[in-house]
Amino acid sequence: MPSFEELGLSGPVLRAIARTGYTEPTPIQAQAIPEALQGRDIVGASQTGTGKTAAFALPILQNLAPAPRRGAARPIRALVLTPTRELAQQNYECFTGFGARTGLECAVVYGGVKQDPQTDRLKAGVDILVATPGRLNDLIGQGFVRLGKLQVFVLDEADRMLDMGFIHDVRRV
Ligand code: AMP
Repeated sequence: MPSFEELGLSGPVLRAIARTGYTEPTPIQAQAIPEALQGRDIVGASQTGTGKTAAFALPILQNLAPAPRRGAARPIRALVLTPTRELAQQNYECFTGFGARTGLECAVVYGGVKQDPQTDRLKAGVDILVATPGRLNDLIGQGFVRLGKLQVFVLDEADRMLDMGFIHDVRRV
């Protein structure tokens, strides 16, 4: 297996991987990371627990990190759509864990909880947004989320999202 460095990762993201204690990439990481760093589109399929989240989170963080913006002028540049709030929270923790020293701001929004803390967070400026589809569309409809500057879009667990009947919400996004 190549090292994370050999896959093209460097700087604060590579140091965060070392702090986390990952010694080598998993197979899906080894395949996906170099392609994602080049900005290519990827469809990935592998079982739960094989490191898919880091396979997209690490290259997103590395690609967005060189140009962090300031304050509320930050446009959302990466959107991760995920079917459940548990997965949303896991994704968020992966991005904040590896992105701690990149200067990037990450936020998570999902339904079933009060909206105000989420909109306050959005108003403060967010580079990377993790969201479930229903709440995201509510927030777009109210003007709290604008996706005009989006560079990266991830459909996490796309098969499950469609099984759960999110097709219309996903289309709208
Ligand atoms: P995931 O498939 O994204 O849900 O990841 C499953 C688990 O594997 C998570 O607890 C990750 O922290 C862990 N993990 C992901 N990549 C690696 C790696 N390269 N080395 C060791 N553990 C990893």
